[in-house]
Amino acid sequence: MPVLTRLIPSPVVVDIRPGALDDLASVLSDERISHSGKLAVAVSSGSGAKLRERIAPALPGATWYEVGGGTLDDAIRLAGAMRAGHYDAVVGLGGGKIIDCAKFAAARVGLPLVAVPTNLAHDGLCSPVATLDNDAGRGSYGVPNPIAVVIDLDVIREAPARFVRSGIGDAVSNISAIADWELANRVNGEKIDGLAAAVARQAGEAVLRHPGGIGDNDFLQVLAEALVLSGIAMSVSGDSRPSSGACHEINHAFDLLFPQRAASHGEQCGLGAAFAMFLRGAHEESAYMAEVLHRHGLPVLPEEIGFTVDEFVQVVEFAPQTRPGRYTILEHLDLKPNQIKDIYSDYAKAIGS
Ligand SMILES: [Zn+2]
Repeated sequence: MPVLTRLIPSPVVVDIRPGALDDLASVLSDERISHSGKLAVAVSSGSGAKLRERIAPALPGATWYEVGGGTLDDAIRLAGAMRAGHYDAVVGLGGGKIIDCAKFAAARVGLPLVAVPTNLAHDGLCSPVATLDNDAGRGSYGVPNPIAVVIDLDVIREAPARFVRSGIGDAVSNISAIADWELANRVNGEKIDGLAAAVARQAGEAVLRHPGGIGDNDFLQVLAEALVLSGIAMSVSGDSRPSSGACHEINHAFDLLFPQRAASHGEQCGLGAAFAMFLRGAHEESAYMAEVLHRHGLPVLPEEIGFTVDEFVQVVEFAPQTRPGRYTILEHLDLKPNQIKDIYSDYAKAIGS
């Protein structure tokens, strides 16, 4: 008897709306995630204090833990501190670093994680990966998917616009990542998980085609949903393939070659995606993507984030080394620096016109 269906690892609760945070305790109790209300809440020591003040009355049974940063040591320390309490769940309340620390700590102490992101900087908020800085640089650690994702759009609206914009670049880059996956399938026979590809692509398309901006709740709703869906697509495929191709190799190359000057994840991924679309000859799609990114205030040219053309050429040349084994348009074309420079000048002209 063949297996005729499959279970998709996904959160039990996805609650995305203005004011969602006020109902956090009741949602967790209704869904039997936390009966007793005993929660370990990880927050940042900086901006977390204000949030804590606001939310603490709604979570009387919570113990609050301040997380120093986004390192593996911070996450291990957090897990150690939480071990003494008898909690129903861990709540990660904050930006990407806090969520990743909480994800790792929750996995370590064997508790489910409730992700409560306070910005929409990238699609890691619902993914089965915790990205943490370690002695060797930065590592990706496999962890269970969050059991619940609660995104309060009122809280998101208060986050710095740059962090919210970053999520747009990350979501839209799915379209380029899927094109890379299809290329790897055509050229190398790499298997595509059709469901993961569909979920990730639709998430990217929804953000790309939405007429609104980060000031509108309906746009933020679609963006938050797209980032959650991207995370689920990665859970479905079991790796980051649906949301990470040449766009992310370019992003990693910026981070590795220019760690002090790198821009945000989504800014670099969006720029990488628009350029990768051009590389694969999808000039109209590239121009449209660039137009949308620009409308949202995201960069589409390296100079807009303080890099020269030569530095960008260096980034693109180095990019394939950041993700060995992943076949994208960059590995496919295997361009020399002077070729990258020529194509870049055509790209800059095309999106400028
Ligand atoms: Zn990403």
